[in-house]
Amino acid sequence: MNFLNLLYFFYYIDLKNYSKHILLTLILISTVLAFNGKRCNICYGEIESDYLKDAWGNIFHKEHEKTAEFCESCYRVVSVAITDGGYYLPDNRLICNLCYQSSVNSYDEALKILDMTLEYLSNNGINIDSSYIKLNLIFKNEIRFDSNNHLNYKAFTILNKSESLSSHEIFILKGLPSQEFSSILAHELMHIWIAENNIKIENELEEYYCNLVARDLYSVDMNLFSSIKQNSIDIQLDENKYDSLFSKQNYTITEIIKHIHGH
Ligand SMILES: [Zn+2]
Ligand SMILES: [Zn+2]
Ligand SMILES: [Zn+2]
Repeated sequence: MNFLNLLYFFYYIDLKNYSKHILLTLILISTVLAFNGKRCNICYGEIESDYLKDAWGNIFHKEHEKTAEFCESCYRVVSVAITDGGYYLPDNRLICNLCYQSSVNSYDEALKILDMTLEYLSNNGINIDSSYIKLNLIFKNEIRFDSNNHLNYKAFTILNKSESLSSHEIFILKGLPSQEFSSILAHELMHIWIAENNIKIENELEEYYCNLVARDLYSVDMNLFSSIKQNSIDIQLDENKYDSLFSKQNYTITEIIKHIHGH
């Protein structure tokens, strides 16, 4: 596998289902109540007919459906009322002001979270030598792909392992809120751990394990954001043919490791 193929491979596996999540979290509610006193979170007007609800339960008029914009991290509808607005990052990703509060923009912050994530994984039996990991913070437009139909991605890893030397490069988007950053890192680190341990498993199964570990990272600090992010990982797990191997709500990383070694 040459460099470009490898790059494309991880990119594709990790990101192909991402854009669906935002749409799946939007719910259309039909209302027959003419005067229920509900107000739209975008224009503040009263809601008297069908309305939409985002993953957080924020409601808004159906007519904003075409123009409403959603945070790429938390999936909230971005408005002054709900998120105090938001920002377009240089690569055109929209991040709401709430997510922006913890967003990882500097290399120092990124390294701190990398260390915390490595420590968490290590406490759970996944030991990775940080000296052979190179972390790159990127904007989407800083990386060129030869295929132009994959516009949604948040991270990918280029594995480089030979007998004498390992050096794995993680590329991850700048500006992600810290919890999401850590979870995505854990997913990529899991690919590295599998490679370092010379474990050969089918790609789809590997992706399943990586997503379970990424999901687990959100349980470190449970809040509404983490549970919504876990739901979005569940959507990917649902589409994986190995989905039934573990219960989504009740598994440990230790069990996953045992399972991997059993293959
Ligand atoms: Zn992956
Ligand atoms: Zn409205
Ligand atoms: Zn957000």
